[in-house]
Amino acid sequence: MPRRTITVGRSVEGRPLCVYLFGSSKSSPTVFLGGFHGDEPKSVRLTDQLIGWLSDEGLEGPTCSAIVMPVVNPDGYDIRKRRNARGVDLNRNFPTANWQRGNPRSRLFGGDQPASEPETRAVIRLLERYKPSRIVSIHSIDRHRFCNNYDGPAKRLAEGMARHNGYPVKGGIGYPTPGSFGTWAGVERRIPIVTLELPSHHSVKRCIGDNKMALLYAVLGGRPLRRV
Ligand SMILES: [Zn+2]
Repeated sequence: MPRRTITVGRSVEGRPLCVYLFGSSKSSPTVFLGGFHGDEPKSVRLTDQLIGWLSDEGLEGPTCSAIVMPVVNPDGYDIRKRRNARGVDLNRNFPTANWQRGNPRSRLFGGDQPASEPETRAVIRLLERYKPSRIVSIHSIDRHRFCNNYDGPAKRLAEGMARHNGYPVKGGIGYPTPGSFGTWAGVERRIPIVTLELPSHHSVKRCIGDNKMALLYAVLGGRPLRRV
């Protein structure tokens, strides 16, 4: 079972932003986030599974911990839309040096200001409070662009996950992402972060099967998982 369940804020429409804490509070956690984009429900299904696995298997003693935020964008997820209730792409709303407002009609709208959205600020508060040693942000992507995409000092983490899920390792996604969470956490704060892009053409069942050990690897930083 989770050590604790907390709410780190509310969405634009007032939905609670729930977070599940596992393992010891004494060690620096791995943070997992799903549902940044509401039209990528596979990411939420996978974080829900992760909560189940961590609840069942337990973690090995005082040396590891995990924090799971299954749905960063619950308003968008509720209606299966990419952006939040104010039309902002939360993965372009982080206060980075390269943040851009962009076009409000674009699916990549960065918001009127950096960190203008309550969901973005909740993620920032979460990371500032718990100071993770690594982060896995889960998305999905269309045809053949699925990957373990890393920012900051996370090449080894991405390669370790790739040994389990078989997805390519990429240092860039192939297009600029101003204001992205990966830039904010990985490039600017040097927290190892992998943006796990699930193949949207694979079934939920397959995504879950292919990624179980990759996510548990990320929890333990490469150490084997033991039951407690
Ligand atoms: Zn996405």
